[in-house]
Amino acid sequence: MSEHKASKFLKGIPAVVKSSLSKKGTIPDNYVIRRGQLEFVEEASRAIKKKEVFLGSAPCGIGKSLASLLAVLPHLETNKLMICFRTRSQLHIYLKELKALAKNLSVLSFFNKKDMCPLYMNRNLSYFDFSEECKQLKDNCESSIKPYCKFYRNNIKGKREVEELALNCAQQILTPREAVRLMSKRGFCTYEAFKRVLPKVNIFLGTYHYVFDSKIRETILRNFGATLSRVLLIVDEAHNLPAFARELLSDKLTKNTIERAYKETEKFKHESQPFIRKCLEILMEQVFQNAQQALKSEELRRLHPQKVSDLILSQNGASALEAAEILLEYGEFIKEKKLELGSEQGLSYNYRVGTFMENFFGNNGRQYIHLVEKDQRSRIALEVRSLDGREITDHVLRQAKGSILMSGFLSPPKVYRDLTLYETNNVYLKELDSPFPPENRTILVASDVSSKFKQRTGLMLRKWRDYIEAISKTNKGNIAVFFTSYGLMHKVLPLIRTDRTIIVEKREMKRNDVIKQLTRSSFNMLSGVMGGKFSEGMDYPNNILTCMVAIGLPYATWDVYQESLINYLENQFPENGRKYAYLTPAILRLIQTCGRVHRSSDDQGCIIILDERVTHEGIKQLFPRYFQEEMIIVKNSIECAKQVKEFWTRLSIA
Ligand code: SF4
Repeated sequence: MSEHKASKFLKGIPAVVKSSLSKKGTIPDNYVIRRGQLEFVEEASRAIKKKEVFLGSAPCGIGKSLASLLAVLPHLETNKLMICFRTRSQLHIYLKELKALAKNLSVLSFFNKKDMCPLYMNRNLSYFDFSEECKQLKDNCESSIKPYCKFYRNNIKGKREVEELALNCAQQILTPREAVRLMSKRGFCTYEAFKRVLPKVNIFLGTYHYVFDSKIRETILRNFGATLSRVLLIVDEAHNLPAFARELLSDKLTKNTIERAYKETEKFKHESQPFIRKCLEILMEQVFQNAQQALKSEELRRLHPQKVSDLILSQNGASALEAAEILLEYGEFIKEKKLELGSEQGLSYNYRVGTFMENFFGNNGRQYIHLVEKDQRSRIALEVRSLDGREITDHVLRQAKGSILMSGFLSPPKVYRDLTLYETNNVYLKELDSPFPPENRTILVASDVSSKFKQRTGLMLRKWRDYIEAISKTNKGNIAVFFTSYGLMHKVLPLIRTDRTIIVEKREMKRNDVIKQLTRSSFNMLSGVMGGKFSEGMDYPNNILTCMVAIGLPYATWDVYQESLINYLENQFPENGRKYAYLTPAILRLIQTCGRVHRSSDDQGCIIILDERVTHEGIKQLFPRYFQEEMIIVKNSIECAKQVKEFWTRLSIA
C-alpha cells in the first residue's frame, strides 16, 4: 500500500484543505497519511463546499475517521462540528485523532445522560423513568425542596468553578468517563456542566440521539448557540442510520406498564380516575388478554388501531386519542402528587401509557405498521413501528452546513442514499476499495450449497460438514465458522470431526477470553452466528484469525414487519423493495462477518462463503466492488480446500 508522510499529503490535497490545515498546524509532522484517506478528504471536502451530502463507503484500513476530520476541519471557522456514532468504540477513535490533530480546538463528548449521571448510572431504571426523575430533582434544586440533586445544586452554587472544570475537560479532550470521574469527585453534574459550556466549544461528539432526536437536538443546538445550518456533521457507522431512524419513530407498550398504571389509579384519586381505570381495563382485559390467548410464542401480528380505538369509544365514550390526552393530564397530576408526598420518583406510568397511545393511534400513515407481539417469555407488547426513517434523517442531513455519512459497509451507497434522503440531487456517493493488498486474501464462494430453507436437508448439512472439515485440515492458523442462526449451528457442529479445539459462542462468553484462546494456539475453530458478538464490532489482532467461513446468507427473521417493510419500500422504490429491506441488511451482516479476518494491511487469510446465491447477479452486485472482482467460485469441498492450500503456498513463496 502506498503511504505518504503528511508533508507529501499536503501537496496532494485541495487548496482549501491544505492552506487551512497548514495554517492551523493541524497535522502533526510525523503523521502518516494513506492513499484512500487522500481521496476521501479531497472528495468529501469538495462535497461540503458544494453543499452536497457526502456518502462514503470506506473499508477497514482507510482511516476514515481521520479522513472525515481532515475534510471538515478546514470548513470549521466559526461553525460547529457534530460527530455522531452508534458505538462507543468509534467515539474513542475520534477522540484519539482529535487529540493528535486539533491543537486549538475544544471538544466535548457525551454518552447518554444516564450513563453520565453519578446518581443513576448503575441503577436499573428505564431511560424514560430516569429522565423524569432527573427533571424533577433538578426542578427541586431551584426551589430547595427535598429531594433534590446535590450534584446539580453544586453546579448552580459553584457556577464559575464548574465552568472552568468543564472547559478544562474540553481542552484536554477527555472521554465522557474520564470527565465524569473528575467532575463528580468535585461534586458536580458533568452532563449539565457540559451543556452549559457548549457555546464555548467547537466540537461535539455524541450518540445518534443527540443529532436525530429532534427534542434532544434542539436542546443541544440551543446550548451550542448554533442553528443546524451552522453545523458540520459527521455521521459515523452510517449503515445503522436507516434502522436507527425507524426505531426512533417507533414505540412499544408492555402489559407491565399498564398494570403499574392501574396500580397508580388505586392510589391517586382524581375526577378522571373512573374513565382512566376503564380505559386501562379495556387494554388489559380485551387487548392484551386476547393476544395472550391468540398468539404463539415469538409471534408478531398486525393489529388495526381503529379496532382498538372503536373498542375504547364504544365502552368508554371517548376516542383513543382523547383518552391519551386524559391519561397525560392524569399522569401530570400523579407526578406532582408523588413529589408532594416526598417520593424520589416523580414519574407516572399513566403518563407513559398516554404518550404511547398518542403515538400508536396518532401515527396512522402508510409508513407505520401497528403490531402485537408475544415474545419468547410469553410477554405481550403493543407496538407501532415506522417503515421509513427519512422524515427524520432527510431534514437533518439537508439542513446541516455539510454532512458526511460514512461507514466501512455502505455498500452499495445508493441504497443508503435512498433510505436516508427523499431526493437524489446534491448527493455525492463514493465507494473506496479496500486498502489492504489483494494478494493477502482469497475470496471463495461455493456453488453447490445454499441455506435456502427448502434446501436445508440432511444432504446439505453433510455438504457443509465436508467443507468445514476440508478447510479445517488445509488452513494455516485459526478458523472461524459463522452460521445464519444458532439452530443451524447446533445441527452442523455435531457432525464435524476435527482435531482443532472448537470454541462455541455462548451468551456469557467474554470477548477477551476468546482473544486469549486464539492467541495461545493457532489450532482453534471458533463457531458462532453472523450478527452475533464475535462476528461484528470485534477485532482479532495480530492475524490470530486466518480464515472466515460464512455458512449461508443471514437474512432477518421473516415476519409481518419484514413483509410490510418490503411492500412499503417496493412502493417507494419500484423493483427494489426486497433489495432495500431484506437483501442489503443480510449482505451487510455477511460482509461484516467476513471482515474479521483482515484488520490490518499485514493480515493474511481466506474468506469462504458457503452459499451459491452470492453468485447470482442481483445479489453479487450488492457486495463491495473488490468482493465482486475477486470472488472465485468453487464447485465442491475438494476444490475449496485446493484453493485454500494454493493461497497459503503462494504466500509462503512470495
Ligand atoms: S442533574 Fe445530573 S447528576 Fe443530577 S440526576 Fe440529573 S444527570 Fe444526574
